[in-house]
Amino acid sequence: MDFELSEEHRAFRDMVNRWVETEIPKTWARELERDEHQYPFALWDKFTEAGFHGIGVDEAYGGQGGDVIIQMILGRALARSLGGLAWVWGLTSFAGSKSIGIYGTNAQKQRFLPEIAAGKLRASIGFTEPGGGTDVLGALSTNAVRADGGWVINGEKIWCTSSHVADYILLLARTDRNVEKQHHGVTLFFVPAKQEGIEITPLLKLGLRSVGSCQVHFKDVFVPDELVLGEPGNAWYMLLPTLNNERIMVGAFCLGVIDGVLEDALSYMKERRAFGRPIGAFQSLQHYVADIAIWQKQIELMLHHAAWLQSQGRDCGLESNMLKVTASDCAVRAADHGIQILGGMGYSAETDMQRYWRDARLWRIGPISNEMGRNVIAEQIGLPRSF
Ligand SMILES: Cc1cc2nc3c(=O)[nH]c(=O)nc-3n(C[C@H](O)[C@H](O)[C@H](O)COP(=O)(O)OP(=O)(O)OC[C@H]3O[C@@H](n4cnc5c(N)ncnc54)[C@H](O)[C@@H]3O)c2cc1C
Repeated sequence: MDFELSEEHRAFRDMVNRWVETEIPKTWARELERDEHQYPFALWDKFTEAGFHGIGVDEAYGGQGGDVIIQMILGRALARSLGGLAWVWGLTSFAGSKSIGIYGTNAQKQRFLPEIAAGKLRASIGFTEPGGGTDVLGALSTNAVRADGGWVINGEKIWCTSSHVADYILLLARTDRNVEKQHHGVTLFFVPAKQEGIEITPLLKLGLRSVGSCQVHFKDVFVPDELVLGEPGNAWYMLLPTLNNERIMVGAFCLGVIDGVLEDALSYMKERRAFGRPIGAFQSLQHYVADIAIWQKQIELMLHHAAWLQSQGRDCGLESNMLKVTASDCAVRAADHGIQILGGMGYSAETDMQRYWRDARLWRIGPISNEMGRNVIAEQIGLPRSF
């Protein structure tokens, strides 16, 4: 049994951590996150310069390569400073490079992957609908009907993050209503986002402010056949393995937040004084940071295990679900402890605890809610399906 990262992975981790310190420090991340109306293009450009959009893209298509372990290391390091702004990298990595890389035809790979790796194509995910995200198939009313040479799409998506600045939306739509089971007859499209018939409205929200999450209306939007991903009608079966990968990515983001919270809490506890002593001398606050350190270790082990299973091509459905549920619960609790440790400064927009808390709070809700995650875990360990 070996719990260590390989030498190559350690070298990558050290390089990325140095890059984060110098290129995207927390003070900058705090400023970038604040403005609801200003997408952080400068951050996107930093990722482009560093070659991070090419991580996970095959070298044959101009990428850097990099398996799920590399992606996990990068996600953790970015979120330590960026919190939820790590999605500025993660969304296109998931909705673009992974989706095209896994389900794309050769022609689609040649057309899109080099652009993604070069930071010239931004992608967003359009799965959730106003009718509900947990029962995503039950609520799926966006439909695509056959037309000459393609499909015509009508419907509405919600929370489609960064779609207002995206070039493409990875869209889930129903293409056949005449099916026995609702997971049949659904199809994935890679829809050009800037075209007639698509109306995008950003929504105000608690965290992840500057990345923008939007309501997207599709009215008679034509999508040619060459932008269908995978086999029409079969999207659900294709998506399932990649959803594990998304959960591993969320686990890495949550761990990055826990890292950021812990280092900020420790540093404040050494400086801030009360009753003639540093507040770090008080046992109740020591218990808070001890808890955060325990969660850090726990999530690291769960994350490494789930990512390792996936890197070996083994099933990691149960492990990635357990990781996502535990990591998001722990990240929120860690940030809440962090706010408490900093007292009033923890509530201030001039420190990062409130930002970590606001951003991590989302991960208990999405991409899959923790209630649904627990439903699936219960089913996977032998109980009857509850939903
Ligand atoms: C900031 C933000 C960004 C997002 N970005 C994206 C994006 O880019 N693309 C995208 O497609 N989606 C995105 N989402 C959507 C996200 O995936 C959904 O919010 C999530 O899946 C939950 O769906 P819902 O909000 O419709 O809640 P609902 O499905 O309405 O659930 C409401 C509550 O009921 C609970 N519930 C539902 N069914 C069950 C059950 N069977 N058992 C127990 N409890 C249950 C849920 O756990 C939840 O607590 C984003 C959401 C937010 C808030």
